Amino acid sequence: QPVIVAIDGPSGTGKSSTSKAVAAQLGLSYLDTGAQYRAITWWMVTSGIDIEDPTAIAAVAGKPEIVSGTDPLDPTISVDGTDVAAAIRTQEVTSQVSAVSAVPEVRSRITELQRSLAAAAEQGIVVEGRDIGTTVLPDADLKVFLTASAEARAARRSGELKGADVAATREALIKRDAADSSRKTSPLAKADDAVEVDTTELTLAQVIECVVTLVEE
Ligand code: C5P
Repeated sequence: QPVIVAIDGPSGTGKSSTSKAVAAQLGLSYLDTGAQYRAITWWMVTSGIDIEDPTAIAAVAGKPEIVSGTDPLDPTISVDGTDVAAAIRTQEVTSQVSAVSAVPEVRSRITELQRSLAAAAEQGIVVEGRDIGTTVLPDADLKVFLTASAEARAARRSGELKGADVAATREALIKRDAADSSRKTSPLAKADDAVEVDTTELTLAQVIECVVTLVEE
């Protein structure tokens, strides 16, 4: 019986590091759904689509072919055959991804991809995102909702970005979370049956151990 684990929460809570480690430790597949939304955003930006125009975005939402590799030790992401793993992490993509992700046609397209990848995972899968427990995989065996203070999240994210300004990172994170939480279709939200884990005072190793224990319970 494949195990399905949904890990949701805002940015900077350690979702990716935790999800990858838990999947590797338990021999499960891994899917970073944020990378998929970043990939479609990268395609919209490079294709010259007006990001302020939801109708224009909706009209081409089905065009790019987005392929995610689900090995937790080597997660990959490509668009129309091009490896975009680095390109999707730029400030340009990060600042526009919430607007693209809010378009219902984008969400239905990406959600369909996510469900088919989850169904294909023989041992099971850890899927991380914003709406996995509420919308994408509401029947997941375990749902975890990771949180952390805005200060902790900004500090972690600035560390990842190698010395980026903490105050500016904090403002950008808060703005993106507010946009993700307020959109009409599948907003960032904790599922009623999700276990909430506040990671503010925990090390990454402690969060991983906590989630592994929850899966094994
Ligand atoms: O996780 P990450 O920060 O890479 O996600 C980038 C963006 O993708 C989020 O800010 C959000 O706008 C969008 N996203 C989403 N639903 C998901 C995962 C990510 O809307 N399940």
